[in-house]
Amino acid sequence: MKKLVFATNNAHKLKEVKAILEPTFTIISLSELNCYDDIPETADTLDGNALLKAQYIFEKFGLDCFADDTGLEIDALGGEPGVYSARYAGEENCATQNMCKVLRLLGDNKNRKACFRTVIALIQNGETRYFEGRIDGNIASQQRGESGFGYDPIFVPDGYLVSFAQLSAEEKNTISHRALAVGKLTDYLQQSKTVAV
Ligand code: IMP
Repeated sequence: MKKLVFATNNAHKLKEVKAILEPTFTIISLSELNCYDDIPETADTLDGNALLKAQYIFEKFGLDCFADDTGLEIDALGGEPGVYSARYAGEENCATQNMCKVLRLLGDNKNRKACFRTVIALIQNGETRYFEGRIDGNIASQQRGESGFGYDPIFVPDGYLVSFAQLSAEEKNTISHRALAVGKLTDYLQQSKTVAV
């Protein structure tokens, strides 16, 4: 079985990615490596942050690995919160406060176009590759639904009448930004002959 480290401490992301990549690949989490470090995310782009996280694990453990960084980009807010999505309303990384800030800033603005973008950085055999997934949609007027995490209750994907948080995990996993990026990663890994831990 091919093995890869997913450099994240986010249990939601780990679950989503494992649901997509396993059983084709065995995904090793940071907790399985006993790594509970607060990995710096100080870059000002999604690519930069994804690379920082993957590089940190590669340098510490010498293992092939990948990391992702995701941002919610809202047209009417000039692309914010973007790379600052986690701590948009403050250092606590509180999803409710982040969503309240978005809804307050948007007010009754008619332009509610937004997208989620995920960038995955893969370090394998000393080489770095990037994979991107994007889903377009609109910001709802209020929070809707209980499932998912982060900004899911206020994001309505194009072609749907419900928010990400009103979809089942399986439904979100077939259309989400992360699923699209992981799909590209999977296609690449399946084509490449040498995957190692
Ligand atoms: P990260 O830096 O990739 O962990 O993501 C930054 C922030 O974006 C997270 O703290 C969440 O608030 C938000 N986020 C990431 N992925 C998703 C998602 O799939 N749905 C909703 N919000 C997300």
